[in-house]
Amino acid sequence: DSTRELLLSRIRDVPDYPKPGVRFKDITPLLADPKAFTALTDALAELSVRHGATKIVGLEARGFILAAPVAVRAGIGFIPVRKAGKLPGATLSQAYDLEYGSAEVEVHAEDLQEGDRVIVIDDVLATGGTAGASVELVRRAGAEVVAVAVLLELGFLGGRDRLEPHLLGAPLEAL
Ligand code: 5GP
Repeated sequence: DSTRELLLSRIRDVPDYPKPGVRFKDITPLLADPKAFTALTDALAELSVRHGATKIVGLEARGFILAAPVAVRAGIGFIPVRKAGKLPGATLSQAYDLEYGSAEVEVHAEDLQEGDRVIVIDDVLATGGTAGASVELVRRAGAEVVAVAVLLELGFLGGRDRLEPHLLGAPLEAL
């Protein structure tokens, strides 16, 4: 539909970034366009409300930029999932495999409780590693993941299949 076309038109392909052979999807033109950014915020807020979310988890770093205005729009609390070592309080951490090596994401343990219904928001789903680890983190904190929502899914990387076993039936919504 028209929102989808508007959003797609504001995502820029950057060849050979961050390394040769990779085509990076740059969302900064979308963020700079208030009509597109507002349309994205509205769509994600609508999804959050529709899934009955009680907490919005944003993934560092671009996920923060998208999830924060969604949280304000929907009237739902925002919880950051950060790369290891950035959160000051007591955290839970979850490691996951990268192509070479591994990475780790963390959340403040006290930010999520049993009974919380969480929507996880990020900009791009690539291999699905980041989202999968974040979903596990939310669940280990005692909360339920009701959906994962991204602006863009890079289908050719197979992220949906990698994420699926972590979702336990919750939907992956790619705008
Ligand atoms: P994954 O763990 O799914 O392989 O990678 C997803 C994470 O890397 C997301 O947090 C996303 O922000 C970032 N990412 C990977 N590829 C791209 C890309 O082409 N464009 C943008 N904007 N982010 C990307």
